[in-house]
Amino acid sequence: MKIPIYDPTPEIEALWGEIQAVLQRVLKSGRFILGPEVEAFEREAAEYLGVKHAVGVNSGTDALVIGLRALGVGPGDEVITTPFTFFATAEAISLVGAKPVFVDIDPQTFNINPKLIPPAITPRTKAILPVHLFGQAADMDPIFSLAEEHGLKILEDVAQAFGGEYKGRKLGTLGDAGAFSFFPTKNLGGFGDGGLIATNVDGVAEMARMLRAHGAKKKYHNEMLGYNSRLDAIQAAILRVKLPHIDEWNEARRRLAGTYNELLQDVPGVKTPYEAPYAKHVYHQYTIRILYDKRDLVQQRLGDAGIGTMVYYPVPVHRLPIFSHFKKRMPQSEKAAGQVLSLPMVPFRTGAIVDALTPVLKGLTR
Ligand SMILES: *Cc1c(COP(=O)(O)O)cnc(C)c1O
Repeated sequence: MKIPIYDPTPEIEALWGEIQAVLQRVLKSGRFILGPEVEAFEREAAEYLGVKHAVGVNSGTDALVIGLRALGVGPGDEVITTPFTFFATAEAISLVGAKPVFVDIDPQTFNINPKLIPPAITPRTKAILPVHLFGQAADMDPIFSLAEEHGLKILEDVAQAFGGEYKGRKLGTLGDAGAFSFFPTKNLGGFGDGGLIATNVDGVAEMARMLRAHGAKKKYHNEMLGYNSRLDAIQAAILRVKLPHIDEWNEARRRLAGTYNELLQDVPGVKTPYEAPYAKHVYHQYTIRILYDKRDLVQQRLGDAGIGTMVYYPVPVHRLPIFSHFKKRMPQSEKAAGQVLSLPMVPFRTGAIVDALTPVLKGLTR
């Protein structure tokens, strides 16, 4: 039996009737970009998150780019972020003309280490961009203090953490804005690309709405250079079907993580994920560390047993040639890149996953 690391089909099968109905509704409506379906999803997402505004865009990457610009980040600015993330986080900073300044991670959580941020702050620092990696909140309180002290904006990268929480508050609603992705593999995924900017600040929402539609508040009265980055009605309709299930699915992810923890607790050379007391982890990925240089071997062994795994991420962003101007070493990120391994996470198939993995995991590093 093959266990993929990720499988969208059980979710679709479970909601098949509803999905067919909304697809028909959208196709018959003739409104395919923005429109009432997107407006309804924006309202429902804002309500779920407990945030004033939600602005649907084309992708998580665009949510970051537009979010940064809506917060006033541009050429000459520096933005502090983590190097242990998907490329798009740092790419978005560079795309708006600013410079990413990397700060190493806390080895327990894989998230930016707030204690290391102060020396990275310069007079050009404009914002901090924490990533809630693998579904777990970055430690936000110390980041808020620093932002207040130095007058910095905060954009959260929530691409992997829809429904996750920090001290009981939904991620993506804590800073000045949050950037979400609905890429099909994310906890809340569409049938294609999609993204969302969440904010409590009226001006930021207004700016984001302009930027996603060619810098125009009113059609053909363009006021600035923006983007063609609007959410499609089909994606919004699918996401509206899925949104009411997200808490249940995140709970299933948490249960599978708990089972993995039990299976792995006595396996030598394996470190299971740490759950920070301030976070409700929603396990976009269940990511372990394999010690003693055995990661690649273990990955191969799991692969031979038909179990899909991934290394997120094999190269920390600051080590990619495109950011080679950034010379500082990030020892914790570099170490993590050599040790991490993400196991299958399909909330619908936890029983099958556990049955298939149990014998393999027990002898994992032997
Ligand atoms: C997926 C992801 C993005 C980008 O989202 P897209 O919708 O694929 O553009 C950004 N940051 C992180 C951490 C991600 O995992």
